[in-house]
Amino acid sequence: MYDILIIGAGPAGMTAAIYGQRGGKKTVLFDQLSYGGQVINTADVANYPGMPDMTGLEFANQVYKQFTDLGAEMKYEKIIRVTDADKPVKTVVTESGNEYRCKSIIIATGAQPRPLGVDGEDRFKGAGISYCATCDGAFFKDKVVAVAGGGNTALEDAEILSDLAEKVYLIHRRDEFRADATNVARVKSKANVEPVLNAVVTGLKGDKYLEGVEVENRETKEKRTLNVNGIFVAIGQVPQNEVFKDFVKLNKAGYVEAGEDCQTGTPGVFAAGDCRTKKVRQITTAVADGAVAALAAIEHINKTCYEVNNQ
Ligand code: NAP
Repeated sequence: MYDILIIGAGPAGMTAAIYGQRGGKKTVLFDQLSYGGQVINTADVANYPGMPDMTGLEFANQVYKQFTDLGAEMKYEKIIRVTDADKPVKTVVTESGNEYRCKSIIIATGAQPRPLGVDGEDRFKGAGISYCATCDGAFFKDKVVAVAGGGNTALEDAEILSDLAEKVYLIHRRDEFRADATNVARVKSKANVEPVLNAVVTGLKGDKYLEGVEVENRETKEKRTLNVNGIFVAIGQVPQNEVFKDFVKLNKAGYVEAGEDCQTGTPGVFAAGDCRTKKVRQITTAVADGAVAALAAIEHINKTCYEVNNQ
């Protein structure tokens, strides 16, 4: 039986694994395909204190080494069900049919890119539509591309792509960007980035591969087609917490309702990082949550699992 079972190996989950294992608890971390979470798609993590000029992948690799060196386990399996979540011994069931028993669960599932929600989006995935400029930007060398979104991800994507592509349209639904002023200033200085403001993507054009995106001006309702080979979608994230909805409360947007103490209301179940209700979703806030959740899990095990601990 595990003391602490963590679901999701992004910055929050990996930090929880460090704290859990260092706290003397048998800790395991689950993720579907890889460790690192969304940070591995970030080219430059410039705002993590003490570690300037670090790529997201370098960060993830270092934290992975740290928790595995300490003895925490990493398993690549998809969690499909949790039973007895409110009991002292909880059971987690995976897609491959394995069952794992544990005394506490930390949900750290992060969030996934929000889809555009226009017809043809699924069809053009990998054929012109991407959700990660760092991963796929090189496929669009000297081509014309678009980025959708006005937050830090979109602005960073536009900057990355401006060095690869011939031209970058930056499509944003308002006339003001949400991203940090420094990111906005850097992108504005790029001659081959053309902002398309007050606009939303309403259609995707092309046969086998994407050949254009239709955008609509939100004020004038005028439509035009931008002839692009690719579009990078960066319009925020959505959580993936459906599997937990029977034993933790989710808000309307699907985030686990939990405060700064990472408590979910179900004894021994905690939520850490981007998957929980919070205002600021940064690597720094995710790692802080990982520490808080793991220490709370340790306290829960020490104080309330007497009978199980002595089994
Ligand atoms: P975000 O900050 O939530 O921005 C999402 C953007 O997409 C917003 O501009 C939003 O428009 C737009 N949007 C949302 N839904 C839309 C829709 N249905 N259609 C069209 N546009 C839509 O998301 P993010 O850029 O992915 O960033 C997520 C978090 O990570 C943020 O806290 C961000 O600061 C952080 N981050 C930080 C860094 C960094 O510091 N280096 C890098 C990347 C991300 P509105 O502005 O009109 O709402």
